[in-house]
Amino acid sequence: MSPLADGFGRPLRNLRLSVTDRCNLRCSYCMPEEHYVWLPKPNVLSFEEIVRCVDAFLALGVDELRLTGGEPLLRTDLPVLVRMLAQRPGLKDLAMTSNGVLLREHAAALRAAGLQRLTVSLDTLDAATFRQLSRRDDLPRVLAGLEAARAAGFADVKIDTVVIAGVNDGELPALLDFARGIGAELRFIEYMDVGGATNWSPRHVVSRAQMLALLRASHGPIRELPRTDSAPAERFELRDGTRFGIIASVTKPFCATCDRSRLTADGMWFTCLYAAHGTDLRELLRTGADDAALRARLTEVWQGRRDRGAEVRAALPDRRALAEAASLRQNPHLEMHTRGG
Ligand code: SAM
Ligand code: SF4
Ligand code: SF4
Repeated sequence: MSPLADGFGRPLRNLRLSVTDRCNLRCSYCMPEEHYVWLPKPNVLSFEEIVRCVDAFLALGVDELRLTGGEPLLRTDLPVLVRMLAQRPGLKDLAMTSNGVLLREHAAALRAAGLQRLTVSLDTLDAATFRQLSRRDDLPRVLAGLEAARAAGFADVKIDTVVIAGVNDGELPALLDFARGIGAELRFIEYMDVGGATNWSPRHVVSRAQMLALLRASHGPIRELPRTDSAPAERFELRDGTRFGIIASVTKPFCATCDRSRLTADGMWFTCLYAAHGTDLRELLRTGADDAALRARLTEVWQGRRDRGAEVRAALPDRRALAEAASLRQNPHLEMHTRGG
């Protein structure tokens, strides 16, 4: 089957599945407020509804799934869902992104249920900076979670680090050394002006070029590795063979090859991280649409897709935060923690 192509010829391949909008951290770049308007509980898709959606996506060419949130480990019985998904024929890659706080408790069960890959978000190794960034005191738990992931048999754990000027840009070398020490690959992410990042400003962005300069100063020459897939991270190698990635969504957007879309916990499907509107799959499911109707809707929307949000944002002469807190309270679907990052 040739993959379903969008308006720019990009295939539908990668689905990020948010299983909850709730989170146990309050990262300043994602959830700067203390209180939020949550998705109503009855609207959250059941595991059976999620699997029905996933099967429709798989039938249209998706073969990579990533569970996300909010914090996915807050979803009750997550290993049950993982087991249901891991059994789907046609699925090549089942991964999860987590903040790691609850990983110590859940890593073994997730591995046993069939989760293949794990990414843990970790922005700092300093307890005070962790508290400043996330407004919680959970650095030791995240570090214990990373240990538990390795002990549970997750081989290629990744660490995602959002880099913010004046907050953690002094820690890039230490984070890279830490990741190397535990056998994880680190990916530095440029701070993005997504919904939720209401305090974003270009001043806070540490660009890909600046990150590379910082790391060259600390670790010597860096070689860029050839690209092998459409993944957003560009990969690099230090002289000693240590590999790391940079996701330069702000200064070097990768919309041209973007094959990913996002399903929120309440069944809204977004074809771009910056999209103003989504497609309500919950409504379709709960009004009796059959599988063919579901697939037809996905096909129609993907074929009409012409999103290139990060490129559009990069071309703005006066770039500032995408949304204000008040508009996010009106429409929680705009939030990064709802869309799953
Ligand atoms: N709670 C989980 C976690 O933090 O890993 C999963 C959901 S979180 C929304 C997914 C990813 O989005 C995290 O790696 C987070 O660092 C990233 N993220 C959130 N806000 C961001 C922003 N403004 N710029 C860049 N990355 C961001
Ligand atoms: Fe932080 Fe992830 Fe929670 Fe956002 S969803 S506040 S990035 S832990
Ligand atoms: Fe894909 Fe939209 Fe991100 Fe561009 S901005 S890479 S189109 S999700």
